[in-house]
Amino acid sequence: MNPLLETTDLPSFDTIAPEHAVPAVETVIAEYQALVDQLTSLGNDTWDTLIAPLEAIDAKLERAFSPVSHLHSVMDSPAWREAHEIAQDKITEFQAALGQNRALYDAYRALKAAPEYQSYARERVAVIEHALRDFELSGVALDEPMRTRFRDIARESSQLETAFEQAVMDATDAWQHPLSEAELDGIPDSERAVLAQAARDKQLDGHLLTLQQPAYHAVITYATHRELRAQAYRAYQTRASDQGPHAGQFDNAERIEKIMALRHEAAQLLGFANAAAMSLATKMAPNADRVLAFLRDLATKAKPGAKRDLEELATFAAAELGIDDLRPWDVPFASEKLRERRYALSDEELKPYFPLDAVMAGLFRIVEEAFGARIVPRADVSVWHADVQYCDVYAESGQRIAGLYLDPYARAKKRGGAWMDTCRSRFVSKHASSLPIAYLTCNFAPPTQGKPSLLTHDDVTTLFHEFGHGLHHMLTRIDARDVSGISGVEWDAVELPSQFMENFCWTRAGLDRFARHVDSGAPMPEDLFQRLLATRHFQSGLFLVRQLEFGLFDFLLHLNYAPDSGARVLETLATVRQEVAVIHPPEWQRFPMSFGHVFAGGYAAGYYSYLWAEVLSADAFAAFGDGIDAAAGRRFLNEVLCVGGSRPALESFVAFRGREPIVEPLLASYGLAD
Ligand SMILES: [Zn+2]
Repeated sequence: MNPLLETTDLPSFDTIAPEHAVPAVETVIAEYQALVDQLTSLGNDTWDTLIAPLEAIDAKLERAFSPVSHLHSVMDSPAWREAHEIAQDKITEFQAALGQNRALYDAYRALKAAPEYQSYARERVAVIEHALRDFELSGVALDEPMRTRFRDIARESSQLETAFEQAVMDATDAWQHPLSEAELDGIPDSERAVLAQAARDKQLDGHLLTLQQPAYHAVITYATHRELRAQAYRAYQTRASDQGPHAGQFDNAERIEKIMALRHEAAQLLGFANAAAMSLATKMAPNADRVLAFLRDLATKAKPGAKRDLEELATFAAAELGIDDLRPWDVPFASEKLRERRYALSDEELKPYFPLDAVMAGLFRIVEEAFGARIVPRADVSVWHADVQYCDVYAESGQRIAGLYLDPYARAKKRGGAWMDTCRSRFVSKHASSLPIAYLTCNFAPPTQGKPSLLTHDDVTTLFHEFGHGLHHMLTRIDARDVSGISGVEWDAVELPSQFMENFCWTRAGLDRFARHVDSGAPMPEDLFQRLLATRHFQSGLFLVRQLEFGLFDFLLHLNYAPDSGARVLETLATVRQEVAVIHPPEWQRFPMSFGHVFAGGYAAGYYSYLWAEVLSADAFAAFGDGIDAAAGRRFLNEVLCVGGSRPALESFVAFRGREPIVEPLLASYGLAD
């Protein structure tokens, strides 16, 4: 028996092996295909005859593949890598075909037209609406020749985006600069190690400046040699453009023109006015005017603070660093010096207050106080590594509602970073059901020789962030699989629960629940807390206006595209900078040519989402005041965490907060309120 095909409550991690992956996935896909063929040949579709069987087979595919993808990430080996790649390719191919299945699309349409649809609960309506929307966005509803044209555009766009990314990589690799002893001045040992490694990677001695982020960061932040910083900045900010040391060699300008033209054409084929409107079809922001008003309102309110930050920095640079005309390549350097001077707050000073066990216990206490959910470790569960802790999650009623695997420590063969991933999704239907089960993976420093694992404040914030995604997944009460937990939640609202949870790492009430000195058990002293808080506000105005510049540039570019005038990339950027920026880069700067988020990633006409979600989370958190308000917590649970994608996120927010979101709490959390 293949353990990936078992229907047990939790996966049998002690028996799952790489050789199970491909046969399990092949079996389920074959069964899935047969089911779809059968379903689309029947008429009279109802929820129980069309959607319920699809939910069950989706769950089966998840049971087969989720442990494969997870074990590949946390217990990597050549065998897992190969098994994962083959299984992943099969699923990707199958799902792409499913998204283009016209008969299945027609079955959903028939379901929507059936009389029964009128009596469906809201979550079922949402499932059907989302499915139809996604079919339509994939071009399946178009008639020929538009349908073929749409598919050609998708293929060509994807090739262009890959080429865009490749050009950025090639341009990044093309430039390097061996550093002399004099040029290393000011760079601390830990950062010099990065530059030495960069040299070794290219079989060179000494230290090498490259345009890879860590090496560039070391020089632009710490090198006292001003001319070197200017040189590095010029090379970095002109990558893949018509300027700088490799001018014209990897230029992405023409690719951007083509990508923008294709996005515009695809949007119009689907009946949207432009690519920005198409992007908003799956987002919380209702229309382009609202996105622009949001960004511009925030810019107006953030700009005075950003100007203050810059003036302060310029004054400091002139008085203390001998830099009278602060240029863009001086800003990270001067900022770092000002930060060191002002706070002298090191990770080492904070870490004794964040032993992992105390932090986890405090996090669980916060979850129980705010949301009434109890998280209880359980030992008799099969796991993939001795460090992993499984927990059951209980609702306030005492009912077991979810499960959670915690894998906290860094180790060999484990992917870096921190993330929450789905093991099982919640659904309840006539013939099958499942509780939501989450994986929470981190890479904290493991305990050493009897000393517990001590986290940095960054680590703690990351843990709370990912746990917020976990709560969204685990505390859902929605029965319909495609809109339970995080599924079906608008893209620009997904980060609400995660960023919300981060706020507990910056309040006295939050820290008092988990920050305990590893030796004495004492809470964090007030003076240390105040210094920690000040670091959060440091140059937040400059940070905000930079994000606004990116967000507004991306959105206007997609909104205002016109075939006659083309993309007008540099003109748009110049206009946006006039409006929101306080630091004005030189005319030759070509940042858009390496802006992969927007031209090669999923953030097209969506970069604003970072700030959008942060406004939501700051405003939501403000409802808690300075403490942990149990009533506000239960409201957040019922109106936001529980409801998944069963209704629009804006409606959920208003139900929780009693009004639409406002930007003031975000400004206050950044220390920018008037
Ligand atoms: Zn996140």
